[in-house]
Amino acid sequence: MDFSLSEEEKAIRDTARAFIQKEVQPLEQEVLRREREHRPGLDRSELRELQLKARQFGFWGLSTPSEYGGMDLPAVLQSLIWTEVGRSFVPFRFGGEADNILYFANDEQRQEYLVPTIEGERVSCFAITEPGAGSDAANISFAARRDGDDWVLTGEKTFITNGNDADFTIVIAVTDKDKDVRKGGATAFLVDRAMGWRSEFIQTMGEGGPASLVFDEVRVPSRNILGEVGQGFDLAMRWIGKGRYIIPSHALGIAERALKMALEHATTRHTFGRPIGDNQAIQWMLADSEVELEAARWLVLRAAWTVDQGQDPRHASSMAKLYGAAMVNHVVDRVMQIHGGMGYTRELPIERWYRQVRLLRIFEGTDEMQRLIIARDLLRGYTQIGGHLA
Ligand SMILES: Cc1cc2nc3c(=O)[nH]c(=O)nc-3n(C[C@H](O)[C@H](O)[C@H](O)COP(=O)(O)OP(=O)(O)OC[C@H]3O[C@@H](n4cnc5c(N)ncnc54)[C@H](O)[C@@H]3O)c2cc1C
Repeated sequence: MDFSLSEEEKAIRDTARAFIQKEVQPLEQEVLRREREHRPGLDRSELRELQLKARQFGFWGLSTPSEYGGMDLPAVLQSLIWTEVGRSFVPFRFGGEADNILYFANDEQRQEYLVPTIEGERVSCFAITEPGAGSDAANISFAARRDGDDWVLTGEKTFITNGNDADFTIVIAVTDKDKDVRKGGATAFLVDRAMGWRSEFIQTMGEGGPASLVFDEVRVPSRNILGEVGQGFDLAMRWIGKGRYIIPSHALGIAERALKMALEHATTRHTFGRPIGDNQAIQWMLADSEVELEAARWLVLRAAWTVDQGQDPRHASSMAKLYGAAMVNHVVDRVMQIHGGMGYTRELPIERWYRQVRLLRIFEGTDEMQRLIIARDLLRGYTQIGGHLA
């Protein structure tokens, strides 16, 4: 068993780290200042400029196939790079990416949606959640009715990331009420904002915010169906599956950075004539954070490795998402405690992380849904305890 990274993996990770340190971290104070004024930390053109700079560093399309100009990296490397991105709270992500399910597009749709999304000329969003259906995604009621060669879409999607900025959405709609949506009853549509849907911003405890998408008899031509009629739920699960190892990879970077701040504070802040880090109470918080961080790291890397092995990654990814999200919440909470009153102020990014990481336990499958998947796999005998070493 070899837990080390290859020289190539280290070199790519280190280059990503250098980019984040040199180009992204210097923007942090400005991002905090803007967010305090309830403005976006980065606007769309600034993000794009940074992404183009990263492209010069060689970082473009981490998961994008090389025929579209991307790096087509293995999942383990993508995970390592997302951890580097997590080290800064600037809302940055590398460019050249598109939703994984846009590769199900036909040739015409690829030119209209996939390629411009990769190039950063168009912004997409993915919409399955509805006011009446979140965890229970099979309960969606957003309907598409056939009318000649068109479909007419009516209903509301909610909590849609990028819903306010998107030029188009990949929306999952019920196309056959008589069928279970998991068995052919739902279809994915590519719908331009210009076709008539509108978005309504939702205030959350985090920075930025998702949106509700409102469709009132929006007419969509059949050629805008993504994949096949009836394939919508399957595509939706593929979209969600990708995030299950990326989200905790990002969380590792946040936890590492926050824990480093706590270590520094523990040695420089004095009370009762000595550094607070001399107290066992503080040491235990540091030790528990380090243990949980390392445990999460190996769950995350194993989930990514499972993807690279072409194995079914769902069980490993659910464990990584569940534990990674819990870990970063524990770590940031302890880091705030170690910083005392300063940790609670907006002078430091800790309270921002505290608000940000709470979401990780909720979106793209809540903690409870991950537990449900993990327990169900065990109870049905689909996964054996410790079975990956068999
Ligand atoms: C900021 C943000 C961004 C988002 N981005 C997107 C997006 O881009 N696209 C999109 O489609 N959706 C998005 N979502 C939606 C998100 O995926 C859902 O909020 C999430 O799946 C939970 O669904 P819900 O909010 O309806 O909660 P519910 O499903 O109503 O659940 C409420 C509570 O009950 C628990 N629960 C439900 N069923 C069970 C059960 N059987 N057993 C035990 N506990 C249960 C849940 O775990 C949760 O704690 C986003 C949400 C947020 C907050």
